Amino acid sequence: MLSIKNLHKQFGDLVVLDGIDLNVETGKVVVVIGPSGSGKTTLLRCLNVLETPNKGELQINNKVLDFSKKVTKKNIQAFRKQTGMVFQTYNLFPHKTAIENVMEGPVIVQNIPKQEARNKARQLLEKVGLGDKIDYYPYQLSGGQQQRVGIARALAMEPEVMLFDEPTSALDPELIGEVLQVMKELAEEGMTMVVVTHEMGFARDVADEVIFMEGGHIIERGHPADMFSRPSNSRTKEFLNLLS
Ligand code: ATP
Repeated sequence: MLSIKNLHKQFGDLVVLDGIDLNVETGKVVVVIGPSGSGKTTLLRCLNVLETPNKGELQINNKVLDFSKKVTKKNIQAFRKQTGMVFQTYNLFPHKTAIENVMEGPVIVQNIPKQEARNKARQLLEKVGLGDKIDYYPYQLSGGQQQRVGIARALAMEPEVMLFDEPTSALDPELIGEVLQVMKELAEEGMTMVVVTHEMGFARDVADEVIFMEGGHIIERGHPADMFSRPSNSRTKEFLNLLS
């Protein structure tokens, strides 16, 4: 289980996360929505400690980071290992092939022998539908294919929780579906996921809970069926109306 307690983050005087509390049970999918600047990306970046929260506590299984105390690099690394992050822009190494991109983490960070890492990377690329593209370089792949390599690369580290930051927002519309399909399959396999997205169809079909953020707060949360058909907060209503 992922647990977030009273999480605060500010950049200078700008308070971006103002006391976020959220539990994500193992195997559940939480979709985070909200207007631009509401703190969605910052929340995800805090969850794998790419940003250091100013206050609050994060826990995944038995690993806890309490930011009101001194947090060591070693503890951060141990915590981060449990998360896999998929970015809006795929962030692949341009001079490495798809399979080399997926192998990189296991070989460099986990010291897994190359052949073993290669076999695992091949399986993961097959899983995301790219078994025939393993030796392609990023520039030879479409955006949707590159993003699927990005997902395979995150999975290669065997994370407990997958974090997706607007994974389809840089894609041409016709390529969005193939990435969402891979994410849907992951959810069906029981992966714990936190997904920032504007894809309301995905949220409706896949999310166990939808979180609406504004101004660094969670304004409303609920099952997608309830949230989308009868949002209780006027700001949520307004935001959803704008999207539709
Ligand atoms: P979007 O939907 O546009 O991606 P968001 O909800 O993900 O928005 P964030 O990217 O988390 O929002 O940004 C929240 C606020 O924090 C914004 O005002 C942004 O300018 C600010 N911010 C984010 N990162 C930094 C940073 N490294 N330094 C200073 N300000 C930052």
